[in-house]
Amino acid sequence: MMAWFLIFASFSAVYSYSPLNYTEIMSRLLHLNATCPFLRLSSSQTDFNLPSPEDCHECLTPILTISNSNGSVPQIYFSGCLHGNERLGPVVLAELAEFLCSNYDTNSWIKRLVDTRLIIMTPMTNAQGYYRNQREESVGGRLYDTNRDFAYMIKGECFKTITAKTVEKIFEKYLIRTSITFHGGDASISYPWGAPDHKKDEKSTEAPDHAAADSIAKAILEFSQADLGVGPMTDKVYDVTGGMEDWAYAGGWENSVNPEKPITNCSEFSNSNPEGLKQLMFLVEADNDKSPDTERYGHKSQVLSSEQGGLIPQFIRMSLGLIDLAKPYILADIVTIENGIRVDWTVWGCITVDYTQVFYGKYTETLYEEIIKDSSKSISLLKKTKNRGGKCRWGGMTEFSEEIITEEDVIVVISAKVDSNWLKQNKPDPNVPPQSHIVNSRTKQHYKVSNKNYSIDESSFFFSSALKSDLNSTGPADKDKKFEGSFQWNALYLVILIIGIISGLLYIAAKKYFYQPLSQQEEIEL
Ligand SMILES: [Zn+2]
Repeated sequence: MMAWFLIFASFSAVYSYSPLNYTEIMSRLLHLNATCPFLRLSSSQTDFNLPSPEDCHECLTPILTISNSNGSVPQIYFSGCLHGNERLGPVVLAELAEFLCSNYDTNSWIKRLVDTRLIIMTPMTNAQGYYRNQREESVGGRLYDTNRDFAYMIKGECFKTITAKTVEKIFEKYLIRTSITFHGGDASISYPWGAPDHKKDEKSTEAPDHAAADSIAKAILEFSQADLGVGPMTDKVYDVTGGMEDWAYAGGWENSVNPEKPITNCSEFSNSNPEGLKQLMFLVEADNDKSPDTERYGHKSQVLSSEQGGLIPQFIRMSLGLIDLAKPYILADIVTIENGIRVDWTVWGCITVDYTQVFYGKYTETLYEEIIKDSSKSISLLKKTKNRGGKCRWGGMTEFSEEIITEEDVIVVISAKVDSNWLKQNKPDPNVPPQSHIVNSRTKQHYKVSNKNYSIDESSFFFSSALKSDLNSTGPADKDKKFEGSFQWNALYLVILIIGIISGLLYIAAKKYFYQPLSQQEEIEL
């Protein structure tokens, strides 16, 4: 019966989400580090030589990186908590990491995200605060609100806390395009501006990247099914000085265009990577309750199902949406039809397809290799179909299709240009074009920036991978299109859940005859 109990308890522990404290999250992260080949656990103490936070039993500030690529792939950052008594974000991130690891082999969308992105997380950014269930971080006996400790409109000192120093070091190292900072105590997803220097009539003025921020926030909110309001931080939360969000967004450019020079030159750090501070950062106030009841956390099977599910599935979905949106891409396949081929495709990682079209030519080894090497140079050798507009995955998803009459096998490559409406502005403050990497890397004809570790080198006109038809076959010839796995995975969960419930009932029925107390060790392992 103990075996039944262990099976049931394991299923319950793995498949139902619940609150986790500092020690439980650390133990989860250590387990993932030992078992998940593309996840790396480090800390700001080991990576950046920062001291451990005080009064925290030598606790570390964990940093996770998740990626199956060594190249300069799009980077997305997640902070679990700046305020240690807001308990949901750290669990969301620990479970997001677990979800990416456990679904990599069975879900092709998750595999694609891990293979083509670098996800950086600090699940417990304010490690001391989370450990002690306290909002602030205490330094030298004084309590600091960590989200007033960043170099935006601060007079005097900033980066006093290990929390802010950790974030600063991460932003110095990487070239992050977009990010989420989880908070609690309200219900909103918000974006710049969120400081008093960009406020008029108690509302935020228009940030130069407002169009993109608003459309991304709405898209990931819809996918999450969370019950949150949307808008600028000043309108939805309140304006602050020393907040992380405006600094992450504008720290790399605003002083050069705003005579007020809101980016503070703090004494402890000199920023060697201004390109690291052009992120679109979203502030997510995950729930009105800073520490929601366990029954609202939800279940792992809800993450990729169509139901709203509990809070953790909602915010895992929101995070997956943002990871996908970091860069646009095309998924296509070729189907052999009676007099030629049909090309089916969808465009992901974006909201609006400005235009898309198919380029094709008679298959030869040489042409195929040239296209793989550089599609933009070789498309002049190809025929093309008409330009078409539509919607990307995150704006409604148009399923594009073109038939090509041919008696010979062809090479196909699809091009697209997306999200040019992110350039729309009414009265931007300051009066400059959009500044963030996520906007410029998809709207500029050629966008190239780098720091000492990474680079972004992209064009607004981009391509699918090259596909080859196979007229001798029927059905899909070459495909890079449909993501598979989520349904099978959910069905598997259901079966496992039923087994778990039956096991539990058997256990409860037999408990009075066979009861033995668990040892301490067994309880911890569950
Ligand atoms: Zn907060």
